[in-house]
This record gives sequence, C-alpha cells and structure tokens, in this order.
Amino acid sequence: MADLNFPFVDPPRQDQFQSCIKCGLCLDSCPTFQETGRELESPRGRVQLIAAVARGVVPLQAPKVAQTLFSCLDCRACEVACPSGVPIGSLIERGRAQVVGWQEAHPDLHGQRSVSKTTRWAVTHLLPNQRRLRRLGWVVARVQRLGLLSGPGRRLLPKPMRAMAQSLPPLTGKETLPPERTTGSSPNPKKKVGVFLGCVMDVVFGDANQATIRVLDKNGLGPVVPQGQNCCGALAIHAGERETARKMARRNIDAFLAGDLDYIATNAGGCGAALMEYGEWLADDPQYREKAEIFSKKVKDVAQILDTEGWQVPRSATTEVVTYQTSCHLSNVMKAGAAPERILQSIPGVQLKPMADSARCCGSAGIYNLTHPQMAEALLRRKMEDVPDGIDTIVTGNPGCWLQLLHGVQAYRPGVQVRHLVQVLDDAYQRETSSP
Ligand code: SF4
Ligand code: SF4
Repeated sequence: MADLNFPFVDPPRQDQFQSCIKCGLCLDSCPTFQETGRELESPRGRVQLIAAVARGVVPLQAPKVAQTLFSCLDCRACEVACPSGVPIGSLIERGRAQVVGWQEAHPDLHGQRSVSKTTRWAVTHLLPNQRRLRRLGWVVARVQRLGLLSGPGRRLLPKPMRAMAQSLPPLTGKETLPPERTTGSSPNPKKKVGVFLGCVMDVVFGDANQATIRVLDKNGLGPVVPQGQNCCGALAIHAGERETARKMARRNIDAFLAGDLDYIATNAGGCGAALMEYGEWLADDPQYREKAEIFSKKVKDVAQILDTEGWQVPRSATTEVVTYQTSCHLSNVMKAGAAPERILQSIPGVQLKPMADSARCCGSAGIYNLTHPQMAEALLRRKMEDVPDGIDTIVTGNPGCWLQLLHGVQAYRPGVQVRHLVQVLDDAYQRETSSP
C-alpha cells in the first residue's frame, strides 16, 4: 500500500519510523557518521528524514532525500545499537524504492539518478539471469587472459571499476560446479543442506563454492545444489528495485523448498542476510508469504551450520598467521557471532590475530563502492589500518568484502592474501588426505 507522500508500493512503515526515540545511541556505530559527523549521514538522521517526508515536511523529490538514503551502506550496524529495535535497514531500503519510483516516473525532471542506468540494468537484467552472468564471466576470463584488465585497456572501464578490475582474481570462465559435484558422497548424511551459490560468488569465487560443498560433505552434512536458484536479490533491494528482488526471491524459494532440506547454506554474509529477509519482502504476497517464512528460517551461514552440527577438527598443521574480517551482514543480521573464529582456531597451527572493529563495513556494501567510491575508499583505508601486522592472510566470509579487501591489500598491504573461511578449512582437510 502506498501513502500520500510515499506514492509507490511498499512505503517505509509508519509504526517503524515512529518507534525511533531520537536517543542517538546508533550514531557512533554508523561508519558514514563516523567519517562525516553529519546528522544526515547518521541512522537517526536518515530515519527522521523518512519521517519528515511521510509528514509532508520534506518532498520525496528533494535531492537531499535521495542523497541521504543512498549514502547509507545498509550495513545494519545501527540496528544492533538501537534500543528501540527500529528496523533501519528496511526503512532505508523502502525509502530508496520510493526515490527510484519517483525518478522513474519523472525522467525529465530529475537530472542525476541515484542508481545509474548501467547499474540498474545489471541488477534487473544481469544478476537474475545465471546463464547471462556465466557468459559474462567467460568473456571477462578471456579479457583477463589478454591482459586487458591490468594494462592501459582498463581506461575503457568506468572510473570506479578500474581499481576493482585490476584486483579481480583470474576467472576460469568455466561452470563452477560440474554435475558430479552437485550432491554429497554420503548416502545417509546426518542433515540435508541446500547450497546457495550466489551470483558474484559463483562467477568470481567458484572455488569457495566448491570448498563449501567439500567441507559440508566431509562433515556428513549432505550438500545438494538445487537447480533453478538465482541471485539472492540483495543488490536489487539496495538499488531500490524491490519488484526485481521479489522475483528472484520467489525463484529461490521454489528451487529450495522443492527439496526436503534441513538447512539452506550460504557462504556469503550479504546473500545470507537477504535470504533471511524474504519473509519481509514477500509479506504482502499471499501465495509466497508463508513459504518465504519457512525458507528464511532454514538459512544459515556455513560457519553457523558447522558450529551447530559440529565439525571434524583437522589433523594437519600449518603455520599460517591470519586475521578475520567478518562481513557486517554476517555479524549484524545473520548473528554469526564468533563461530567463524572458533572454526579458524580449531585448525592446528593457525595463529589468529584479532582485527579491531572487525564487523565495521569495509566499504564494499554491494554496489556502494561503485556508486560512492570516495566514501568506500575512505572506509577501506580505515579497514586496512586495522589489519594487524605480521599476518599472511585476511579471512573473510562474503564476496563483496573479498573483492574490496583484494583491492585494499593491493593498494595498502601488498603480499597479504585474502581468502574465504571455508577455503582455509578445506585446505586443512586436503592436507591431511594428501599427507602420508
Ligand atoms: S545501515 Fe550502516 S551506514 Fe546505514 S545508517 Fe545504519 S550504520 Fe549507518
Ligand atoms: S538508536 Fe534507534 S531509537 Fe535511538 S536515534 Fe538511533 S534509530 Fe532512533
């Protein structure tokens, strides 16, 4: 339902923005407020601006509404700090969809769009289509092999993408999961786990998906890869494209609920947070509302599943010195707590050095590093300052952070690797099978 001042479907909910008591306890947790000190770049400022639009005090089309809502990282650190339980992320996502709706309805009145046409096309036409995405991965793999992404050819890319292109790992351009890897080896696994592949994770970091399947299998948690799944929809929601996100959600629900699964496993904090919110996205859809709730309750990060069900402690030793950077969504929404660190510390010989404020957003935030490159770079620089000295590897749990951190180590900490938690655990298992 729309309302007078938010004229499109899914407006920010009045009961939610009115529950803000303006205490300001969220301010210090907000990375954009920490950087700028501006009220309008704080959670409270954003919530109060939404309330002002709803009251008709500020028009939806005022440029500051778009700027304020789109400058948010959607990292959700503020929700953890808020004593009133204001769902700030949802309010901002709904507010953005209203802004995008207005910009779409008035193309001649609005000079600059909050989300560029290219980005919009990518989230509405590329990400929902796994085949198209893999074809792009194939093309990028070839372009990389020709050296065009590391040389002067980078100048052909839009500016914010150039640094990213250079730090992109070499793509294979191949299917990440050949058919024989789509189910586990045990005929009687203790749990049945549907593996969510994701879009960026699948095309850029297919190794992590394969490692996830091997790790689940090794621990008797029968992995299956449901066919017909697609991108989680998080990037579409962040871009204000709620209807596209809902379409993706319905497709994933159909793909995963067709099997009798105990868990839906993700290895990407950003995706996991989105998958857990399908109930909210589809609350007004009588056909999918209930199914979305059932789906979302099964969603867990692979680290959480291992932590709950138990994992085999590797026997092989290493001398790797690591630090762990949790994704903000994995921490603030999925509430993974210290499960990833427990797994890392179980690997004999791994030395874990803590990273200060590890869950603070690294600046990746979906497409944020493309839409707000300056703020993203400032946050990345801070993140890199927090990386302890003397480490070999930054371990993380989300493809967006992974890409951002790869860019960060290239610029600020050369020689440091960035890897996913499941790869580190999988390597330890592989070492014990390969050693005599
Ligand atoms: S989601 Fe993150 S960036 Fe946005 S208001 Fe909350 S803390 Fe700030
Ligand atoms: S902590 Fe919550 S209630 Fe307090 S100002 Fe921030 S959003 Fe409002």
